[in-house]
Amino acid sequence: MSEKKTRSHKAQKVLERFGKKLNRQVAGSLVACVHCGNCTESCHYVLANPDDPTYAPAYKADKIRKLFKRHHDWTGRVFPWWVKAGSLYTDEELEDLKDTVFGKCTNCRRCTLNCPMGVDLATFNRMARGLLVSVGVMPEGVAVVSKDQWEIGNQMGVLKEDYVETLEWMGEELQDELDDPTAGIPIDKADCDVMYTINPREAKYDPRSISDAAKIFHFAGEKWMMPSEGWDMTNFGLFSGDDDLGGAVARRLFEKAIELRAKKVVISECGHGYRSTRCEGPNWAKFDMPVEMESSVITMIRYIKEGRIKVDKTRNTKSVTFHDSCNNARSCGLTEEPRELLRLVTTDFREMHPNRAENYCCTGGGGAMSMSEYTTRRLKSGSVKAKQLEDTGAEVVVTSCHNYVDGLTDLIRHYKLDMEVTQLVNLVANALVIEEKVALPVKEAVAPEPAREKALPLAGRKILVADDEPDQVTFLSAVFEDNGAVVLSAANADEALAIARREKPDLLTLDLSMPGRDVGEAFEALRNDPELESLKVCVVTGRPELRRLIYDRSVRAPEGYLDKPVSEETLLLTARKILATSHETS
Ligand code: SF4
Ligand code: SF4
Repeated sequence: MSEKKTRSHKAQKVLERFGKKLNRQVAGSLVACVHCGNCTESCHYVLANPDDPTYAPAYKADKIRKLFKRHHDWTGRVFPWWVKAGSLYTDEELEDLKDTVFGKCTNCRRCTLNCPMGVDLATFNRMARGLLVSVGVMPEGVAVVSKDQWEIGNQMGVLKEDYVETLEWMGEELQDELDDPTAGIPIDKADCDVMYTINPREAKYDPRSISDAAKIFHFAGEKWMMPSEGWDMTNFGLFSGDDDLGGAVARRLFEKAIELRAKKVVISECGHGYRSTRCEGPNWAKFDMPVEMESSVITMIRYIKEGRIKVDKTRNTKSVTFHDSCNNARSCGLTEEPRELLRLVTTDFREMHPNRAENYCCTGGGGAMSMSEYTTRRLKSGSVKAKQLEDTGAEVVVTSCHNYVDGLTDLIRHYKLDMEVTQLVNLVANALVIEEKVALPVKEAVAPEPAREKALPLAGRKILVADDEPDQVTFLSAVFEDNGAVVLSAANADEALAIARREKPDLLTLDLSMPGRDVGEAFEALRNDPELESLKVCVVTGRPELRRLIYDRSVRAPEGYLDKPVSEETLLLTARKILATSHETS
């Protein structure tokens, strides 16, 4: 006599939604696997964990396939034991599925490439993520980022005023640098030939990539602009499997381009952003996008070929290799253009092996950087990529993807590789040949050398670094001190509070997970202290899911936020911006 199992509410919802989400492509992949094992060695998780069979693509796929067999395939209803059909009953089983679909697969699609039957695990892995998200079962970072993209309009929660201010700031710096008032970043200008869209990481952590792009557009004589809304070309819907979010984000961008009558949307360097906006977005949004869309990599090549900009490759003499983004290379076929561009702007390009569509994931894809609970796994499986990087012997790894800048930076730090990460836009901007202006007569009254020497950008500033990791304190302190600041440090929240009250620093960098007193409480106490009214705070954390400790409080929000690992350049730019220091480096 068989005992009828009860099913949790969430499990019931997941199964109901599963039926609605099935389409021919997913069903085809779910039935096609013959368990030949060809895909096993193609997965970086397997290569880094050879003794753990739960990382094998077919094993992971079977966790979803069994549901299809049980509920949507007659073989599973008649011979469930034979075709390994199974169902979901408990919330614990949902958690177990979450661990697989979010924590053991980056949806990189390398296994798909090596499957003779064309099984596309990433497609139904994404679908399974979406089913779990629909009942609230997901890593906390996925919930936080999705919420930001739904509510604030971009996945890093950059407020409109901060974004616009950053563009204006970058525009003014460019005018100063080029001594040209016509340079700058036009915002919301109608009838332009190009609407430039970016990854929010650029506005938040890497504004130099925006000013480098602005410089290229300026010298190309492009009629371009950036929109004040609908500018986020990334789309967390691709990672969370939430098609509704995917459609809403894509639609915002499409509608803005139409409203401003842009003739073309140029998408800055981001693998998942390019795929989401150009390839998947119109489907998710059910939107017939009439405006052409193009990767900035193609735009930059075009400018060079059309003679609109001149470049000198001898400005970039460090040896470089290229990391293909999984989305660009495997899902969008964007493999040759970045290489063509690299050869035009660098002198020593060397391939990584394997490369192009066969390249290994950097382990930062699929939204993995937002899922801190899987960081240990991510870094371990990154040993495959680290070996690839090391074998090139290159000094610089170039990637056309902001996610991968973070993913690769993390790996380089973890595996102690002697390498930098950069993007094509930075190399092109650096290689730009800028025609000299007609020389003006030299003014007589040139100040003597010492007087013209410019102050370091943080000179006269006092900065308190609160972090319990000695390496972090050393790094942050060194960057601030090298730029003229006086640095104090604290290893816990109580100490930070006491030093802040005693020393009255201008800026506090605040780690969210320190031992002892709750960091959120300490932050609130700081904010409520009238003597610390002028203290600026920048959160620097490796635990983005702890943001609510700070941001859910009814006190003034921090002036800045950075995710670890943070680069020297980003740290300095952010500190300068918060402290509103001027660009004074020569
Ligand atoms: S290669 Fe394809 S058919 Fe073979 S086990 Fe992997 S997914 Fe299944
Ligand atoms: S999609 Fe990538 S991470 Fe996922 S199983 Fe396949 S190879 Fe592994």
